[in-house]
Amino acid sequence: MIKRDEYVRHQKEALEYIEKANVVISNEEKEQISVNDFGLNDLANQGAEILTFFNTDRISYKIIVLLPGQTLPEHWHPPMGDDPGKEEIMRVRSGEVYLYVSGEPTENIKAKVPKKSAEYYTVYHQITMRPGEQVILNPGVIHWFQSGPEGAVIDDYSTCARDILDGFTDPNVKRITEIEE
Ligand code: ZN
Repeated sequence: MIKRDEYVRHQKEALEYIEKANVVISNEEKEQISVNDFGLNDLANQGAEILTFFNTDRISYKIIVLLPGQTLPEHWHPPMGDDPGKEEIMRVRSGEVYLYVSGEPTENIKAKVPKKSAEYYTVYHQITMRPGEQVILNPGVIHWFQSGPEGAVIDDYSTCARDILDGFTDPNVKRITEIEE
């Protein structure tokens, strides 16, 4: 649950990051930046500001803004019918991003695991991403990511996104953000 004024404040802050990263968006798109708390009531630590430019049956492009230290909680994109699940390419535009996937756990990871949900973070192989760097995430790969102290703007390209079907390790996650008026 996010209070309306908190929602608007995060929207404005995300817009500043988007503009600083030299992404040109329309006035209509400015209104469409969504603030996501994943139902965890922990927005400063777990959440993301997302602008979807398009999402067809085959292709999708979003910008994900992480305010300093914000984490997009651990999740995966499951198959549906003949679709093996979303294939996702993350490319950093600004800031530093610590991405975690399965594999050999990295010692002394750079991210701070969100205290409130620490037990639900299970993959710790770290990939540090800086502007101009990209990673391809195959369908079904479990992943989570956090921005460094400067926040981050990420271009997120993928096959069709069906956010509502995404699997989250934390059973408390609700993908649709509730706004309290
Ligand atoms: Zn993902």
